[in-house]
Amino acid sequence: MELKHSPGPWETKREYSHGPVIILGGDGKPVVVCREKRDPEEYEANVLLMSAAPELLSELIASHDREWMEDHEGIPAHMAGERPDECGACAVIVKALGMK
Ligand SMILES: [Zn+2]
Repeated sequence: MELKHSPGPWETKREYSHGPVIILGGDGKPVVVCREKRDPEEYEANVLLMSAAPELLSELIASHDREWMEDHEGIPAHMAGERPDECGACAVIVKALGMK
């Protein structure tokens, strides 16, 4: 499984108070600049969620593959992303990786 996104972990940074939040990749380069367009509390929560994305994805894939080493509820054992029509975790992984 090829992960094309910027290396993690991602961190957040503001260049000045009330300025846009910059999400930095594990290599220290900017990944995205987030401008506030919503309620401030919701905006901060959204930025934190986005900045955790690489770690969430890695942990989801690892957890998925441990869980699905065996068949469950009529769905055969499989690897992350292989059964998006039957497995909710696979559907999210396929969405995050832009797999078809
Ligand atoms: Zn699955």
